[in-house]
Amino acid sequence: MLIFKFGGASVKDASAVKNVAQIISMFPNKKKLIVVSAMGKTTNLLEEVVDALWTNNYESFRYLVDQVYKTHLKIVDDLFIEKHEGLVNFLEDVRDNLLERINKPISENYDFEYDQMVSIGEHISTKIVEEYLLDQTNLALWIDTKQFIRTDNTYRNGNVDWNKTQELITNNLVPLFKNSDTIITQGFIGSTSEGFATTLGREGSDYTAGIYAYCLNAESVTIWKDVPGMLNADPKWFDDTVKLNQISFQEAIELAYYGATVIHPKTIKPLQNKNIPLLVKSFVKPGEEGTIISESTKFDHLIPSFIFKMNQIKIGITPKDFSFIAEENLSHLFHILSNAGVQINLMQNSAISFDFVIDNKTNIIKDLFSNLEKDFIVSIEEGLELVTIRHYDQQTIDRVTIDKHILLTQKSEQTARILMRNI
Ligand code: ASP
Repeated sequence: MLIFKFGGASVKDASAVKNVAQIISMFPNKKKLIVVSAMGKTTNLLEEVVDALWTNNYESFRYLVDQVYKTHLKIVDDLFIEKHEGLVNFLEDVRDNLLERINKPISENYDFEYDQMVSIGEHISTKIVEEYLLDQTNLALWIDTKQFIRTDNTYRNGNVDWNKTQELITNNLVPLFKNSDTIITQGFIGSTSEGFATTLGREGSDYTAGIYAYCLNAESVTIWKDVPGMLNADPKWFDDTVKLNQISFQEAIELAYYGATVIHPKTIKPLQNKNIPLLVKSFVKPGEEGTIISESTKFDHLIPSFIFKMNQIKIGITPKDFSFIAEENLSHLFHILSNAGVQINLMQNSAISFDFVIDNKTNIIKDLFSNLEKDFIVSIEEGLELVTIRHYDQQTIDRVTIDKHILLTQKSEQTARILMRNI
C-alpha cells in the first residue's frame, strides 16, 4: 500500500490536476490511498469567508463565497472537454449552502464554525480530482475522511483518537480496496464522535497521510512537492541550497521543530513508530529521486541545514519583587504564555531574569504584555532573526552572522542557535 499526499500547489489549476493524474498512473497495480489538500490558496480564502461571517460583514461574505465558487468552476471548466454537469451542480450546492449560513444562527464557538466551513476546501478538491481520475481511467473511489479519522472536539487542532481511528480504518476502509486500487480522500480533516468536522492544524494534510499510513501499515508515504525534496535551507534565503538525499526520522523531527516548513511536524511520529519511510518528491519531476526519511541516521551529519525565523521578538522579564526566577515564577509565567497560545522559539534564564523569543504576532503580543506586566518588569527587543544550524561548524556560523549583531548563542553538540539583528 502506498500513501500519496498532494498539497495545494499540486492541485492549484487544471494542468496541475492533470499532472497529479499522470503521477498516479505511474504506479499501476499498486494499492494507493491519495490524500489531497484544498486547491491552491483555497484554505486562506475560506478563512476569510469565516471571518466575514463572524463579523457580520455580509457583503464581503457573499463576495468571498462567490470567489470560492468561481475559482473552482474555472478549474472544472478547464479540466474537462465537455461540460461537467455533476460537478457544476455540486459547486453550486456548496455555494448555496454557504450563503444560507447568513440566515442560520451562528454558534458561539469561532473554532467550531471555522472547521465546519474551512473543511469544505478539501471536500471540493477531492471531488474534482476524483471526477477527473474517473474520466481518464475509470479508476478511483472517493471516500469521506470524516468516516475514518476520529478526533476529540478541539476544533482547529483536533487530537486523533488512535484506537477509534484504527478500528474504523481496519473495519470500514480496508475492505474498500477490494473494489478499487486507488482511493482518494481529504487531508487536514477529521470528525468528532457527533460527526462534526474538525481540522488538524494548518498544513495538516501531511499528518493525515501519516495517520493513514500508520493504520494501514503502508509501505511508504510520498509527499509530492514543488521542490526536488528536502533542501538544507529555504531557497528564499540561500541561492545554493543542497538537497538532503537521505535523513533520519529524528533529524526530520528536529528540522521541523526548529521551523523547517517542508513537512508538518506531527507527520513523522506515526511513521517512525512503524518504520514507514517518508519520501519527499517533486511533482514537477516525478521520476527524480527526492529525499528519503527513514530510520537510518548514517547520512544526517553530511550536510549542515539552516533554518531561519524572521521577525522575532525577545521578551525579557524580571519579577517586580526581585525574587528568583525559580519554579513558582516559572510555572506562573508558562501558564500566562500557554493561555496566550504563545510558542517559545528560544529561552534562557539567569537568577532573576528570564528571556524568551517568540514570533512577533501583533494579535497575541498586546494581551501578553499586559498580563506579564502585572507581575514582572518587561523589556522587549523587536526586529530580530533566529537562525538554527544543524551540524554546524565555525564556517557555517560565520556564513550567517556576517553583518549581524549577535544577541544570544546556544550550542549543543549538533545544533547552534543564534539570535541576531542587522548591524
Ligand atoms: N489546506 C490546508 C492548509 O492549507 C491543509 C494542507 O494543505 O495541508 O493548511
